[in-house]
Amino acid sequence: MPELPEVETTRQGISPHVLGRTVVAAAVRESRLRWPVPADLERLLSGRTVAAITRRGKYLLINFDSGTLILHLGMSGSLRLVDDNAAPQRHDHVDVILDDGCRLRLRDPRRFGSLHWVEGDPLQHPLLASLGPEPLGAAFDGQWLYSRSRGRRVAVKPYLMDGRVVVGVGNIYANEALFLAGIHPLRPAGRISLARYGRLAEAVKEVLQEAIGQGGTTLRDFLGSDGTPGYFSQRLRVYGREAIPCEVCGHLLRQRRIGQRSTYFCPRCQT
Ligand SMILES: [Zn+2]
Repeated sequence: MPELPEVETTRQGISPHVLGRTVVAAAVRESRLRWPVPADLERLLSGRTVAAITRRGKYLLINFDSGTLILHLGMSGSLRLVDDNAAPQRHDHVDVILDDGCRLRLRDPRRFGSLHWVEGDPLQHPLLASLGPEPLGAAFDGQWLYSRSRGRRVAVKPYLMDGRVVVGVGNIYANEALFLAGIHPLRPAGRISLARYGRLAEAVKEVLQEAIGQGGTTLRDFLGSDGTPGYFSQRLRVYGREAIPCEVCGHLLRQRRIGQRSTYFCPRCQT
């Protein structure tokens, strides 16, 4: 599933090729995504110039001189830049055709992604308005995690994955960050000190930055490729490593389900 680092890598990968380009046409081959793709997409986009590509959580925002295309890649989506003569494959549902002949192509086999057109402030769109802070932004820190959690008995792992607390911390990254911070995933969120939350916020930033940094080597996959972009796997310290010795203390790592999600941790290092 595309997580925040993949979305950010996509943003960085396509931006230099798309900024300043004007849309000349659009093709919608399948409009039944999670929500219907606007039937008049071509009319909405034609003649508009891409002013910026930004990201909010796992949403990509293609900002035009007026109006914004809000894209979500769902469970299996990818957005690539292809040549004008690259024939669409199965699951290539939407093309946005630019004035240099390149196409932004949305592929989404499971069709859980979405595409919305908004005029006005996109951050006020119902999908985005109630999102928590960006994990890589300055507003997300130990103080935020600490004050937001007082009196709460929810375990820290689902707390960290709650998009109202912070956006874009998926299951893998929550596991890895809790390990780096030495915090047991079942510890009640309301019973973690400010200092430990400071370490956790830093750990979240570290694992996400690491993943985005590794994505840099796969940027070419977003250009002219007919295949699926190679979503990268970073070096994982605990995720998927049940019964493998902890790299810090040598104790065997454990796995259990917390809130339906696979959770991996070191029973000795994480308290
Ligand atoms: Zn350990």
